[in-house]
Amino acid sequence: MTYQVNEKGFYGKFGGAYIPEMLYPNIESLRNQYLEIIAKPEFQRDFNALLSDYVGRPTPLYFSKNMSAQYNCKLYLKREDLNHTGAHKINNTIGQILLARYLGKEKIIAETGAGQHGVATATVCALMNMDCIVYMGKVDTERQQANVARMRMLGAKVVAVTSGSQTLKDATNEAMRHWINHPEDTHYIIGSVVGPHPYPDMVARFQSVISKEIKSQLLKKEGRENPDAVIACVGGGSNAAGGFYHFLENQSVRLIAAEAAGLGVSTGKSAATTALGKDGILHGSRTLLMQTDDGQVIEPYSISAGLDYPGIGAMHAHLFDSRRADFYAITDEEAMESGLALSATEGIIPAIETAHALSVLDKVNFKPQDIVVIILSGRGDKDLETYSQYLNDKEAKR
Ligand SMILES: *Cc1c(COP(=O)(O)O)cnc(C)c1O
Repeated sequence: MTYQVNEKGFYGKFGGAYIPEMLYPNIESLRNQYLEIIAKPEFQRDFNALLSDYVGRPTPLYFSKNMSAQYNCKLYLKREDLNHTGAHKINNTIGQILLARYLGKEKIIAETGAGQHGVATATVCALMNMDCIVYMGKVDTERQQANVARMRMLGAKVVAVTSGSQTLKDATNEAMRHWINHPEDTHYIIGSVVGPHPYPDMVARFQSVISKEIKSQLLKKEGRENPDAVIACVGGGSNAAGGFYHFLENQSVRLIAAEAAGLGVSTGKSAATTALGKDGILHGSRTLLMQTDDGQVIEPYSISAGLDYPGIGAMHAHLFDSRRADFYAITDEEAMESGLALSATEGIIPAIETAHALSVLDKVNFKPQDIVVIILSGRGDKDLETYSQYLNDKEAKR
């Protein structure tokens, strides 16, 4: 059994490329070329140089002394929050923009929900002097004005999408439509391990630098490459895919994913895809997704915009289905408390997405000698308003 993608683009029964005929040439050209381009020594040289000097890699693997004592295990934090732009997303956008240049593309499009992927894409477009259009639901542009401002400063055109519910799925549809009409000069940068093959595998490869670094850093610090467990939050699943990647085939490494339960798995306000989802097709991929009995996608809910997605990457659907990974559903409140706790005990304010991964420590017991790595996917600066509202509400309740 392997947990990697097969040559047809499937992880077990999940994955593939279920796309309209019109998109076929774009996807086919990408599928035929991505592995060869990524393997080129010049590509690897440019990718690694930018990761090092522009993004700031390798990110530290920090031994969290205070939390280790509290949870009675050896806890390490993989500091993706210290990357340029504040999260792991830039690892992928750097890889994809280099790939776009090898493919001879001049223009970039992307979709974004909260704006984090839009900012990471606009950043690399500024760096590479490429045209950038970011599709974003109108409702989201109003909720995420700071990220809209960032994208505009970086030179991107932000298109506010007014169809449907004016959120992420509508922005994705609009980006797809643009791509169908401009296949020659445009590359579409997808922000997570979702979408039709080869996107999930391509994004996982670019993010796999996370687990590659963990191996060499643990070898130095602990004398062994493999931890006992890796914990990551899952929206679409790209930081988790990167953190798990080099441990997938090693059964002695426990893989643990945290998804957003929102107000609670059974409240109707949730984004816990493995707990609630059923087999179906979303954004060109067969996966688990939240849907009604007649197959309508259910609007997800989470306090954290980055986990507010009705599906999950095909790799994770397979890891869940095969029981290779354990999934925990974490409520808004549990995540907020974990975010506050890390801030107070280690002086690190995490993104609320990341805080979901930290909450797993309250649900799983480890042994004192266990080495546990948590992927600290992003920093909490973007979430200060939500954190301070939470603190205000808590004080008012006292
Ligand atoms: C976008 C985001 C996520 C969720 O995306 P994945 O593809 O599941 O990693 C998690 N954490 C942060 C900080 C993010 O910005």
